[in-house]
Formats: sequence, C-alpha cells, structure tokens
Amino acid sequence: MKIIIADKAGFCFGVKRAVDMAINYTESHDSLISLGQLIHNDQVTNRLEKNGLVKVDNLEGLKDKTVLIRSHGVGKDIYEKSEAQNLEMLDATCPFVKKVHRIVHDYHDKGYKIIIVGNKDHPEIIGINGWCKNEALIVSDENELPVLDKGPYCLVAQTTLKLSVWNGLVDKVKSFDVEAEFFNTICSATAERQRAAMALAPKVDLMIVIGGYHSSNTRKLYEICSTLCEETLHVEKKSDLVMTNLDKYVMIGITAGASTPDWVIEEIVDHLKAMQ
Ligand code: SF4
Repeated sequence: MKIIIADKAGFCFGVKRAVDMAINYTESHDSLISLGQLIHNDQVTNRLEKNGLVKVDNLEGLKDKTVLIRSHGVGKDIYEKSEAQNLEMLDATCPFVKKVHRIVHDYHDKGYKIIIVGNKDHPEIIGINGWCKNEALIVSDENELPVLDKGPYCLVAQTTLKLSVWNGLVDKVKSFDVEAEFFNTICSATAERQRAAMALAPKVDLMIVIGGYHSSNTRKLYEICSTLCEETLHVEKKSDLVMTNLDKYVMIGITAGASTPDWVIEEIVDHLKAMQ
C-alpha cells in the first residue's frame, strides 16, 4: 500500500497566520477572546483554549479585553462596536478576505449592487455583507440568481468557492446584458488544494479528506474527490478513521482542508502505516 499526500494540503497562509497570532498572544498574556471559533478544527482550538483562548459569540458586556478577529473576518459594525467599548483588537482577518471587504465597500459606495456568491450562513459571507450595509444579494449558485434588472452590479466570491460555480454565475449574469464588474476573489490556496486533489483522486483506490466537519473548504474538497474516486472518506482526526481491510487498497491518497495542521495529517499517515 502506497500513501500519497496531495501536493498542496493542509493549513493555508491565512489560517496559519491567525493561529500563530493567537499562539504568540496567549504565550505572553493571560487571556484572549475569540469572536467565534478561531478555525474549524477542534484539535487546534482545544490546544489554544488550554492557553487561555476563550470563545464568545458577540461583544456584549466585554470590557478591558483583547478580541481576536479570526481569518474569516467580520463586518464593519464589529470594528465600530469594539471601538465604542474600548476593546483592543487582534485582527487576524486573512488579507485575501480583507481585499473582498475593500472591493465590496468601495463598489457599494459607488452605487453598485453587490452580489456575493457563496453560503449565506458562513461567517466569511456574513462579514463581507457587513461591508455593504448587509444589502448584498447572496446566492450559492447560478440557479439562485433572479432575473437581474438594471445594474450596475459588483460580483465577488466566497474565497472557498468552486471555480466552476463562479464561472456559471458569471455566464448567467452576462446573459442578462447588465452592467457588471466581476471580481473572482476565490483564494489561490483553495484553488491549489482543489487542483491538487483533482489530480490525485482519480489515481488512487481510496481518497481520505482530512479536516473539520464544519469546514466549508474541506467539505468542498470532499465533494470534488468523491466525484473522482469511488471510495472517498472525510475524517477530522485519527480516531475517526475506522478501517479493517486496508489490504484491498494499492494506493491511498490524502488531502486536507486549509484549517488542518500538519500534525493531524502526520498522525493519520502514521495510523494508516501502523494498520498495514
Ligand atoms: S483559504 Fe485563502 S482566504 Fe481563506 S484564510 Fe486561507 S489563505 Fe485566506
């Protein structure tokens, strides 16, 4: 049995930066408040919580605290509230997400109607919408797009969106013959992981996708892999991998979402080797 790890797998730049910021801060301070779960990976957040990271769902009642903004980013109102409450901010918003905030804010100011392509319930999308007064039309794919009246429109994508979904949306908007600006804001980390998974999945008998069950980029990797490899598993940690007959696999492929640290990938590889 051969185990092959996809060329690009695991922690992306933005998540690594946010986790490093949280680790560095908690090493020299007593506590740090995280607005929402820092990343969708319980193994990492459990470790940080032991060092004093406390998760809250909103800023209500907080005083004299430092608040960590996670890589998904937040809306403009959170910056305003935090300033009004005199809270310190440790802003770990991924620079790629910040760029989307700037586009949405600028184009909304110029009178464009904002369309965000992504999952309306995802914190990144909620944050982006908060930079255009929560007035964006949010669609998850071209089928949700209503007939567009006159624009102008400004389209941006959730950074973890599949390129094919974005392309479908662009074609549909163009078919309405309206004025529109398109900003493909899909992050290269996501595209690279998706491309590497696409290249590996058809060559192996079993594909294992590692990452949080709530991590949207991991779930998208799973979707892609399961269309290309008949046997595809999504696991979050070593103990989720319950397999008995490994002998039937000649090649096992591994990929991991952007919020999966290297040590979780290594643990699963070692576990597979030990089961041989
Ligand atoms: S996936 Fe891309 S946009 Fe999202 S945190 Fe990672 S580097 Fe940033």
